[in-house]
Amino acid sequence: MEKSLLDRKKQYIVPGVSTYYEEPIIMEHGSGCYLYDIDGREYLDFFGGILTVSVGHANSKVNTAIIEQLQKVTHLSTLYVHEAMVKLGERLAKVTPGDLEMSFFTSSGTEANETAIAMARMATGYYDVVALRHSYSGRSALAMALTGQSSWRMGLSGTPGIVHARNPYYYRSHSPLSMDEYADECARDLEETIVTSTSGRIAAVILEPIQGVGGFITLPDSYLQQVAAITHKYGGLLIVDEVQTGFGRTGKWFGIEHAGVIPDIMTFAKGMANGMPIGATIATRAVGEKYIGPTIATFGGNPVSMCAALATLDVIEQEGLVENAQNRGASLRQGLEALQKQYPVIGDVRGRGLMQAMEFVRTEKEPAPDLVAEFFEYTKERHLLIGKGGLYGNAIRIAPPLTVSEEQVQTALHIMGEALAKLYEQHEELRPSLVVSDAS
Ligand code: PMP
Repeated sequence: MEKSLLDRKKQYIVPGVSTYYEEPIIMEHGSGCYLYDIDGREYLDFFGGILTVSVGHANSKVNTAIIEQLQKVTHLSTLYVHEAMVKLGERLAKVTPGDLEMSFFTSSGTEANETAIAMARMATGYYDVVALRHSYSGRSALAMALTGQSSWRMGLSGTPGIVHARNPYYYRSHSPLSMDEYADECARDLEETIVTSTSGRIAAVILEPIQGVGGFITLPDSYLQQVAAITHKYGGLLIVDEVQTGFGRTGKWFGIEHAGVIPDIMTFAKGMANGMPIGATIATRAVGEKYIGPTIATFGGNPVSMCAALATLDVIEQEGLVENAQNRGASLRQGLEALQKQYPVIGDVRGRGLMQAMEFVRTEKEPAPDLVAEFFEYTKERHLLIGKGGLYGNAIRIAPPLTVSEEQVQTALHIMGEALAKLYEQHEELRPSLVVSDAS
């Protein structure tokens, strides 16, 4: 008998490539905010290929740009000049905050962060880098070492020259302080980390404005402002990883803009080209000019990915998707907060724009990854796709394409409400804390 696709995957693909759900879904195609499996079942996609399908599956404008470029030339290498790369560099310089100007293109977020660290080390002449706990930077040896979650290091150890400071994860801080005071305490911890655990001069601090894989832990504005000042005080550059938060996701063009902080280096990937492989690192002229090679990323600046990114940016601009992320994000947030009032298993709701998370807990904030897994099965049965995250596996990440409609947001909220009701039906121990909402 012929082996099933899932059995063949088990045989030929390493087990590190994990899937969601007890019975993984085998997908066939997508359109807008929907994915379709091989049996034609339609799923409402509220995770968008992990925040990558920013302007919807099979977006016709992006696809047209890709096909037109494919028919001209697929690949060149940067040994020759192609207009699309230069155009995208210009476009990034315009759309990013401050005077970020010079870009280097790669094919992934991991490489974008690798580049950023190398740039910072070359520009400052210092070596040490401070990352944050609960961060995620990618899957190369360096990026795994920057990552502040052992679960994403595959048992491999870190590299010298990288230390981790405390992230302002207020919900899990068990601190009697207010959120603002706790943000100040974490900023002090960063300074203390630099003074005690580095050479005293640093190349960079790297952070995500909202820690994506960490479970959408949203760093307070006042913390980010203090981090920028502390980084510069010790000779370092501020690297802001916008791989998840970039290009409208949070209701502004970039996540860091909520805090009014101007980075020295920014990194991008994921949603930038609506699913085509891309990574980018942009720096100020002063920093970029010191990134002297020769260096080459074979697929960096690939004309097809460059054209996909240019078209994606056009769609975001022309269709007002940053504003849509803000408005649809506000309804999503409101709906999640209403569910939280009804179902105390939702310990925390956080995020910005179309990047919202819930943390499932039992009493005393005990992480409940088992309940998340069960909730996932119930949402799958109702054809809604969402994401998991967090060091404890108990965060639910919700991030639909930026093109999502109000009706789709309400449908997703309705399904999550039904799935929560089912969870409470199955778990008597959760019920004493059930609060009957007076909302209809
Ligand atoms: N930085 C962040 C914030 C990410 O979320 C990711 C991917 N999850 C990366 C970097 C690495 O990107 P890639 O998987 O494209 O290498």
